[in-house]
Amino acid sequence: MPEPIKSILIVGGGTAGWMAAAAIKRSVGPHAEVRLVESADIGIVGVGEATVPTIKDFNALIDLDEAEFMRETKATIKLGIEFNGWGKADSAYFHPFGTYGVGPTLGDFPGSYFALKERGKAGSLEAYSICAHAARRGRMGQRSPDPRSALSGFHTAYHFDANLYGQYLRKVCAGRGVERIEGEIVEVVQRPEDGFVDHVVLKDGRTLKADLFIDCTGFRGLLIEGALKAGYEDWSHWLPMNRALAVPCAKVRAVDPYTSSTAREAGWQWRIALQHRTGNGYVYCSDYIDDDAARETLLSNLDGEALADPRPLRFVTGRRKKLWDKNVVSLGLSSGFIEPLESTSIHLVQVGIIRLLQHWPDTGFSQTNTDGYNRRLGREIELIRDFVILHYHATDRDDTPFWRHVRDMPIPDSLIERVEMFRDRGLLFQVGADEYFSQGSWMAVMVGQEILPKTYNPLYAYQNLDQVAAGFEQIRKAWTATVDNLPTHEAFLKQQGMWA
Ligand code: FAD
Repeated sequence: MPEPIKSILIVGGGTAGWMAAAAIKRSVGPHAEVRLVESADIGIVGVGEATVPTIKDFNALIDLDEAEFMRETKATIKLGIEFNGWGKADSAYFHPFGTYGVGPTLGDFPGSYFALKERGKAGSLEAYSICAHAARRGRMGQRSPDPRSALSGFHTAYHFDANLYGQYLRKVCAGRGVERIEGEIVEVVQRPEDGFVDHVVLKDGRTLKADLFIDCTGFRGLLIEGALKAGYEDWSHWLPMNRALAVPCAKVRAVDPYTSSTAREAGWQWRIALQHRTGNGYVYCSDYIDDDAARETLLSNLDGEALADPRPLRFVTGRRKKLWDKNVVSLGLSSGFIEPLESTSIHLVQVGIIRLLQHWPDTGFSQTNTDGYNRRLGREIELIRDFVILHYHATDRDDTPFWRHVRDMPIPDSLIERVEMFRDRGLLFQVGADEYFSQGSWMAVMVGQEILPKTYNPLYAYQNLDQVAAGFEQIRKAWTATVDNLPTHEAFLKQQGMWA
């Protein structure tokens, strides 16, 4: 019988490393040793500030107290993303969390929506999303467990200071028995017989041995690529962004409960309001703009005084060919990077951790198990990749070489099929339970960027459309009335003890 894993070494103390440490220690308890090694000299990326609702499940899994977590990380609540200038230069739409107002009398929302729209009996999509209503008016509430409540579809995530999140998790982990080691790894030593990693060597000569290594070393992928040469699948031909500049600025107005993404000459700019400051960044493609011009664009589009010099970051979109190889599992940036448009990196760290716990190995490391993990997680990453590519593909812009390039670039076959099915008759589908983005998300972006169906499934016309229209109107009014009674975002955070 193979032995259970007795020792785990997490290499890297960025968001991915500390999330992995907290979740793994929670699962193995006293049965295995969990250590984390990080280097203060190398530092972390520290710019992951926007999340998606699954972060709530993760924080619950590792038993974080929500109010304490929010105070510690200066967090605010996120209800979705506002996209400015993505379809046409002067267009805007909102991609909300949660569902569109589907009630028992409304049947399938998209089909009914298009049938009503054709007859001029439906408003904008936003009118049927409780999260969009609250976001537009800066109001905040809590999800209700009662399926009849307007707030049952009120899904939320967070914006937080990624540096503070890492520090907070580090403190939590210290109290739960994770050993932290400070030091820089200078060598990764593999077993000659099978290439498994045996130990790593620190600059001061110390060696660290483990049964299982979790590579959280960021873009460098010290173990998974540096030692094991797992290979990288480059997606630049579909996702050409390769640089970013990030800069915090002073807070000048009430905190918005949503991320803003504004299209610029050769990419897009984010705006993320935290309790104490606003995070900003310009994500761009260096083939279409130089760094100085990008810096100038970013700095001239801040709504408060810049609090630091813009920080440059470089990346290549894509993913590690083997996310798990031998006894090394890569998580976070060491496993790949899609780009931050839909705030999915921290989500993918979390999915990687959950899948690892589901595929937890023994010291025999079954190849079937490793292959299963790689196939499953790889597919989940690709589905998210397609959704992000959609935003570029669906642009109508032709005002700069960058936008012309992304509008006309080839897209993966898997995405072509989805876009064509939608264009043909408004058909939306999810590829299995593991796909993160819902039909509502696909609909928000396609309709928001004016990919509109030529027709709709004729079965929807058999409904009593006056009755369906009345149901839609009832929902719109109920959402408006519910939001009227909610406090402002900032007042809500203070009432709940979440404000630092
Ligand atoms: P890092 O933060 O780079 O950490 C690497 C760790 O490895 C560090 O502790 C370092 O010290 C250690 N290390 C490296 N080499 C060695 C060595 N030789 N010896 C010892 N230790 C070593 N994600 C989101 O979910 N939402 C967002 O809004 C978002 N925005 C982003 C914007 C940009 C521009 C970028 C680039 C990323 C963004 N991300 C976002 C991604 C997010 O930042 C990362 O997923 C997250 O920070 C995890 O990073 P990491 O822990 O994998 O790597």
